[in-house]
Amino acid sequence: MVGVVGIAFPKFRLVSTLGAYQDLAKDGLWETTMTTKRMGLSGKPETAAEMAARFDDLHPPYNEMMAMTESNRCLYCYDAPCTTACPTSIDIPAFIRKISTGNPNGAAKTILEENILGGTCARVCPTETLCEQACVCNELEGGPVPIGRLQRYAVDHFMEADKPHPFGRKPSSGKTVAVVGAGPAGLACAHRLAMLGHDAVVFEAKAKAGGLNEYGLAAYKMTNDFAQKEVDFLLEIGGITIQYEQRLGDNLLLADLSRDYDAVFIGIGLGDVNDLGLEGEDKDGIHSAIDFIEEIRQAPDKRDVAVGDNVIVIGGGNTAIDAAVQAKRLGAGEVTLVYRRGAEQMGATDFEQDLAKLNDVIVRYWSMPSGIKGNGKVESMVFEKAELDGGKLMGTGETYEVKADMVLKAVGQKLLPSGLDGIELNRGKLVLDEKFQTTMGGVFAGGDAVASGEDLTVQAVEDGKQAAHAIDQYLSGM
Ligand code: SF4
Repeated sequence: MVGVVGIAFPKFRLVSTLGAYQDLAKDGLWETTMTTKRMGLSGKPETAAEMAARFDDLHPPYNEMMAMTESNRCLYCYDAPCTTACPTSIDIPAFIRKISTGNPNGAAKTILEENILGGTCARVCPTETLCEQACVCNELEGGPVPIGRLQRYAVDHFMEADKPHPFGRKPSSGKTVAVVGAGPAGLACAHRLAMLGHDAVVFEAKAKAGGLNEYGLAAYKMTNDFAQKEVDFLLEIGGITIQYEQRLGDNLLLADLSRDYDAVFIGIGLGDVNDLGLEGEDKDGIHSAIDFIEEIRQAPDKRDVAVGDNVIVIGGGNTAIDAAVQAKRLGAGEVTLVYRRGAEQMGATDFEQDLAKLNDVIVRYWSMPSGIKGNGKVESMVFEKAELDGGKLMGTGETYEVKADMVLKAVGQKLLPSGLDGIELNRGKLVLDEKFQTTMGGVFAGGDAVASGEDLTVQAVEDGKQAAHAIDQYLSGM
């Protein structure tokens, strides 16, 4: 089977995608892998076509034969553990069976009725730690059923078929809900509200909808303007309008929304980034990884994006990997990703960590940033080696220096509290009751901005969907 579709074992998936795989011996503190020669990432590409090739689809889509072959491996488990592991509870065996019987459009409808952003989630979900980790086929030769790629096959098939929107709307309730933020939570909430017969007006701070799907994910994960195509598809249901460049606490006030609409949903995500807390952090060349990723996503020709020769990325999550890999693909000479703990503790999945190494990123573990050098512009950073002492991370006193003309910070994001006066926060996130309502009556929330939320696109979609049902109940009692 590996010879036919090249995807059976998890490790072999990287072979099929990237053309090479090498077991990456871990030697504790330091880890350097792959040569630029092997991945062909030396220097900046000269032509637009060469650069575009570096940002091509990370997981090329399945064709019909691949989808049929892989879908036929599913055992259609009763009480399927993959469905239990999916935050949006997609009936995975049902959609896979529809693919295997030649009904990909039916499969897409099964997916989309639980997750209207199933196309993006199929591309960016850490499936290896969610549905595919739970798949019983992990115990069998061939490994887990590639649920994410099958999901993408079905949803892409439906969207490319140019069929009518798969969901209708209940009769109009006459109610209108203000949705703040056109990211995954806000869009999912607005779509479900529309299905339930309500209208939604979405207020988005930026010039485009999609949130992280449009601005915050590596370009090779979201090719061909998919985020905007998905927004267009979602809006086909009707009853949803989007107003752009409307920022909460700036030209948009919660008090006005509460007064003018029947309910409010806040899905603003985390709009601010954490600092390193070091002196000299304002030097030229030091940027947020989120801003860097956004610039790449919005650049029609990636050659226009400035990248350093010696880039340091600080952090251990998928954002850090997205920034590091893209810096290398843009043509940086050396990219060093520095994380204060070990590989096991990284927020980035094993797949993402391997991807960084396959793209010639040098990974340095157990290292805490302790100084920034440079006169006006960053020239190097100093790191202190770290270790666990009684479970607590401590510096060892031993330091080393890494040359840098660009530093990308990916040490977490936080809520911008602007415009949220009157709503209780806990540890910088919105507090909700069990019905997704904040401490302000009639104001609901979901996604990364809430206290219990996991920072996953799929969780944001589920929050938005569930909050829409809670708002529906709230409106029916008005
Ligand atoms: S756990 Fe695996 S084999 Fe079972 S239904 Fe889910 S995808 Fe199919």
